[in-house]
Amino acid sequence: MSKVFVIDVARCSGCHNCQLSCKDEHCENDWRPYAAPQPPTGQFWCRVTDHPRGTIPKVKIHYIPVLCNHCADAPCLRAAENGAVYRRADGLVVIDPEKAAGQKQLAEACPYGAIFWNEELNLPQKCTGCAHLLDHGAKVPRCVEACPTDAMRFGEEAELADLLRDAVVLHREYGTSPRVYYRNIPGCFLGGLVYDPVEEEVIIGATVTLTLADGTRQITQTDAFGDFWFRDLPETTAAVTIEAEGFAPKTFFDLQTAGCPNLGDVPLERA
Ligand code: SF4
Ligand code: SF4
Ligand code: SF4
Repeated sequence: MSKVFVIDVARCSGCHNCQLSCKDEHCENDWRPYAAPQPPTGQFWCRVTDHPRGTIPKVKIHYIPVLCNHCADAPCLRAAENGAVYRRADGLVVIDPEKAAGQKQLAEACPYGAIFWNEELNLPQKCTGCAHLLDHGAKVPRCVEACPTDAMRFGEEAELADLLRDAVVLHREYGTSPRVYYRNIPGCFLGGLVYDPVEEEVIIGATVTLTLADGTRQITQTDAFGDFWFRDLPETTAAVTIEAEGFAPKTFFDLQTAGCPNLGDVPLERA
């Protein structure tokens, strides 16, 4: 048995239900031997992070819930003394609240910052995967159950294989083999609006060509509002050329897609 979390960022509305339900499940509730009570403040075993991109008015935001990754190669487990961190048969990584007392080094060991130090209890604490629920008949943890959009899934790796095909992990470079996977994390975008400064009207149907540093090209047309968008771009350098019948073409060079550039309102001069 090997359980994984799969989080579909495209389905996440940022409602924070997962974060709140984790609090409701663990704050001031004593689930020993799985976990001591989480304090009401200072810890988020599940935290919804927001990621705004672009510049006004072309701004987009997505949300990424983060929790312990239940890593297959977990630094916290290696840093623990006396077996204070252990991996269960289902793959969940759990801190033993009795053995871990005083082991502040565990809070430093996690590269994801998923372990919190509880000064009052002299204890490192983190997401347990809601092992206390799973061992008593629950199919999924509280955060997964609370998600209204099915953005969070939890189950056997083999059963979720279809979802895992295009999934990624956060900070693969840490080399910890996380067991929390993410799908549909949006790439960079680039946008703008094209208008005729003489008529003071947007230009509909202008051809916009994006050329990336590797030479690949994408072409789109401005819409009924004069807007154009290129989505899910890699982080690279790009050039954009805007052409419309009766107008002189205009080109922008050395655009860095990483910043999700908005070219703003682009006037085209008559040819
Ligand atoms: S995310 Fe951090 S706390 Fe969780 S298993 Fe990995 S190293 Fe340990
Ligand atoms: S699995 Fe349980 S402990 Fe972990 S983030 Fe979800 S609700 Fe919190
Ligand atoms: S409950 Fe679901 S939709 Fe709401 S923030 Fe969490 S993952 Fe996103």
